[in-house]
Amino acid sequence: MQYPTPIPADTDLAVLRVGELWLKGRNQQRFIDRLKHNLRTTIRAAAGPCVIRGNRGHLYLHLEDRSQLKKAIAVAADTPGITSVSPVYRLAPDLDAIEEACVELAQSAWGGRDISFAAKTKRLDKSLPVKAPELNRRFGGAVFQRVKLRVDLTNPDEILGIEVGKEHAHIWVQTYTGVGGLPVGCTGKVMLLLSGGIDSPVAGYMAQKRGCEIEGIYFHSPPFISEASREKVEALGRKLAPRQGGMTLNVVPFTEIQKAIKANCDGRLTVLLYRRFMYRIADRVAVAAGANALCTGENLAQVASQTLENLNIVDRVTSRITLRPLITYDKAEIVAISRRIGTFETSILPHDDCCTLFVPKHPVTKGRLDILEAAEADLPVEDLINAAIDGIERVSL
Ligand code: ATP
Ligand code: MG
Repeated sequence: MQYPTPIPADTDLAVLRVGELWLKGRNQQRFIDRLKHNLRTTIRAAAGPCVIRGNRGHLYLHLEDRSQLKKAIAVAADTPGITSVSPVYRLAPDLDAIEEACVELAQSAWGGRDISFAAKTKRLDKSLPVKAPELNRRFGGAVFQRVKLRVDLTNPDEILGIEVGKEHAHIWVQTYTGVGGLPVGCTGKVMLLLSGGIDSPVAGYMAQKRGCEIEGIYFHSPPFISEASREKVEALGRKLAPRQGGMTLNVVPFTEIQKAIKANCDGRLTVLLYRRFMYRIADRVAVAAGANALCTGENLAQVASQTLENLNIVDRVTSRITLRPLITYDKAEIVAISRRIGTFETSILPHDDCCTLFVPKHPVTKGRLDILEAAEADLPVEDLINAAIDGIERVSL
């Protein structure tokens, strides 16, 4: 292979560091394969043809069009399972050549700046007679003398990374932090109750980050709830979909259920009754879709339906667990994640909320299961659920 000398101003190669998969024993290979598949799908869609090689702690991304590397790195860093990403320069594993390249790269990245650095070398080729500390002294020493940067081994401003393998060496001067977590899809599938608010898209993202593929379910009540509100939910789903190469949203007609509850039940119970219907339907749709859990944006004591008492009451109607990734978060923490993942701007657009439809000012905060069950005894629960499920529209995002 031909190595470019001197080092070009840009590169078409990046190293992607893989996190926690190390802990996963015999599942490791499956997780890595899934991660590579996810990376290929999302990077190709955003930045064109690419090849991803490697196995274990390091993957190498090779991009056909080097002008797109920045975009590809941003996508890779946002891919669950990746802990950090660096654009790297590849050269022959020849120590003199590496030393020259270190000086050249440090000069172009940091020359003339008053900063400290540390050289960190990793030997991928353990048969190399020179040990890492000696290589650090050699490469770091050359940069110290010729680029005139301060060395600080404990708290450097910048890291000069070097790895020396049998076939190639790589060097880099930038590292972008990745989201960490586990590859989407490797821990199973969950049914996300997706509304137009701030919380549920963040909850979906957190589930994805923990390796869950998500399918969405949205309860829609036309004409009380506008089409614009539904479009907003779809727009939020589209923000989550690329991380898993597409996502299905189940749009459930909810109007008849809400009307039946309003006509027959004590107003103070309406929200809880709505929510028990939502959970029952989501649970059945989850079973049909092969999802092993529900997932919501619920948050302890955020609203009346989210007290411990009321969460217990809705949990009684499902056959599987409900993930509530945001249960203990403060709103400010949720908003910060929402901004970071790019859903906030859409979430704060005005929308109507079916959970507040026909709801009195003071809904119960400490519901009682026997009272809820008695209220439901006055409703054709099964018929309402079946009609809603029959009317589901499945939208591909
Ligand atoms: P968000 O919680 O997403 O900001 P919100 O505050 O309007 O929206 P809540 O009333 O707090 O929603 O509802 C709690 C959770 O219930 C939501 O996070 C979401 O998972 C689910 N949910 C509420 N309304 C709907 C709906 N119309 N369709 C699907 N899920 C819903
Ligand atoms: Mg909420």
